Amino acid sequence: MKKPLSRGMARLVLIELVFSAVCLVLDQLIPYHTIGEYRVVDALYYFKRSLQLLPFALLGSAAVCWIRNLRCPCCERGFAMPWWRRGERRYCSRCGREIVFDDVPHGGEPPAAGR
Ligand SMILES: [Zn+2]
Repeated sequence: MKKPLSRGMARLVLIELVFSAVCLVLDQLIPYHTIGEYRVVDALYYFKRSLQLLPFALLGSAAVCWIRNLRCPCCERGFAMPWWRRGERRYCSRCGREIVFDDVPHGGEPPAAGR
């Protein structure tokens, strides 16, 4: 019995990936406060530290969610990409069967089938 993949889980993984990238970029954009050659340990310093650590936590969490929840429901070996949108028809790279998300109406043809 095929169980559709959770769109909510796909969104969560995508948001975690995007947010970790944003943190990495922000960290690069914000300079440390320095006095001479020394970094000032202030609120900004801790903010930057968390910007450096947070992406790893987010990426780890996204990887776990992805590996556990976004796999082909038929063979459980192919992966579904979280940026696949509703209405797109995607097929498993391993077994070739369609990967269905839970926001596509069950039993009917998806709306964008005639593309
Ligand atoms: Zn498959």
